[in-house]
Amino acid sequence: MTTLSWGTDALASVPDGFLTTESTFEVFDPSTEQPIAAVADCGPTEALAALDAAAAAAPTWAASTLRERADVLHRLFDALHANSERLAQLLTLEVGKTIREARGEVAYAADYVRWYAEEAVRPHGRSTVSPDGRNHIVTVAEPVGPCLLITPWNVPLAMAARKVAPAVAAGCTAVLKPAELTPLTSLVFGELLLEAGAPPGVLTVVTTRRPAEVSSALLADPRLRKVSFTGSTEVGRLLLEQAGRRVLRTSMELGGNAPFLVFDDADLDLAIREAMIAKLRLGGQSCVAANRFLVADGIADAFVAGLGAQLAALVVGPPGDEGTDLGPSVDHRAVAKVNRLVNDAVGKGAVVVARAPIPDGPGHWVAPTLLDQVPADADILHEEVFGPVAAIRRFSSEDEAVALSNDTEHGLAAYLITRDSERSRRVASRLQSGMVGINRGLVSDVAAPFGGVKQSGIGREGGPEGLQEYLQFKYLSSPGF
Ligand code: NAD
Repeated sequence: MTTLSWGTDALASVPDGFLTTESTFEVFDPSTEQPIAAVADCGPTEALAALDAAAAAAPTWAASTLRERADVLHRLFDALHANSERLAQLLTLEVGKTIREARGEVAYAADYVRWYAEEAVRPHGRSTVSPDGRNHIVTVAEPVGPCLLITPWNVPLAMAARKVAPAVAAGCTAVLKPAELTPLTSLVFGELLLEAGAPPGVLTVVTTRRPAEVSSALLADPRLRKVSFTGSTEVGRLLLEQAGRRVLRTSMELGGNAPFLVFDDADLDLAIREAMIAKLRLGGQSCVAANRFLVADGIADAFVAGLGAQLAALVVGPPGDEGTDLGPSVDHRAVAKVNRLVNDAVGKGAVVVARAPIPDGPGHWVAPTLLDQVPADADILHEEVFGPVAAIRRFSSEDEAVALSNDTEHGLAAYLITRDSERSRRVASRLQSGMVGINRGLVSDVAAPFGGVKQSGIGREGGPEGLQEYLQFKYLSSPGF
């Protein structure tokens, strides 16, 4: 196994808040395909023990002061920064993202923790009177109760932070179930939260390679009051069905199929620069990655030439090397999916304009590729690519661009590049999307509500809206003044 400067030792020490089992499963480095650590393979018994802890801690944590919760989160923010390089190395090992991306993820995760440390102390109740003056209305914000938080493999630390921080700020306790491919940074995150002063039971991290068994046991237990899930739309639908049986609060951050619109009045250099960001963040393995490049006829040839040159020049290689632009995909299934989508598009008439070289095996490598003239029926326009492949479709009018953008069951992020501010407002208002990047390929911001419409999800993470997901309101009625 690769020796970690930190990580496996921390994991082996199993402090309070972590579960041990006789059976374990291995976590692999996607760039070498070698195991890097083994973690507990929890089943329903351990999951329910974690819920026992969350339920036992819930009354005390709900009664904690807003300042106490904020102080814990401020200390966690400091700890994440103090450990940022070691966390970044661990992310690079388990996800395969480049060390530069990994440092960015640690900073992004810490930012959510700081945002909710600051948000925790802001009051959320209100006091008013009814219109006829007969009723005095007081609303009190209360934590929803024990939560199940399920995170994906692509941004494991930031997704854990984006759920745990508002839950803790709201006074909720939680069970965190990270993805089986990438559980390591979540374990460390849980340990740092305990060290920051969260009482045992406020967060328990449950690692498993049997996610359906674990989540089914928890969702059937009447003590659980909420599930917050980030992952694929397919699994989100299954969880919504189960949550519906017990009328649980749900937050769903699901898949996307983001359009990236380039109008013919766009600044070409800016369009190419932002397209690279929107496509290649996390190696294309992002829910908000640009999936379909919709480009106006008048600018398409120049845009394709410029984007192709940049994609072809990318350095794909060991993610820990400072000079690497792109690491491996997370596993062989991710590689097979991207290759299937490329082959399907080419089989139906798409043209490969550019392709960057990739290392020989081992490692789950995918070549950054630019496809032009992608036909309407190509699967790549209808499925999340989750890889460094850009597909170009051309349009001739604004109406056509909007219609193509909205021709999907998803509605998470969309991007548009234009110099015309009137057009940007007009088109943004017509896009069926939870987030719109205007002249930028990056929308994530701790102060903004991140989330989708249509089958991309329910609820928002980040900003003041993110805290509301973990609060419920009680209304007290008394005679008016
Ligand atoms: P996934 O749906 O396969 O897995 C996500 C999580 O669900 C993992 O923890 C996994 O163990 C668990 N899981 C899998 N099957 C389950 C089941 N039957 N019951 C309960 N839990 C189950 O998704 P993934 O491959 O880990 O992540 C990629 C997906 O996540 C993409 O679709 C991406 O768009 C989406 N995503 C969305 C956002 C967002 O904010 N909207 C952010 C990141 C990723």
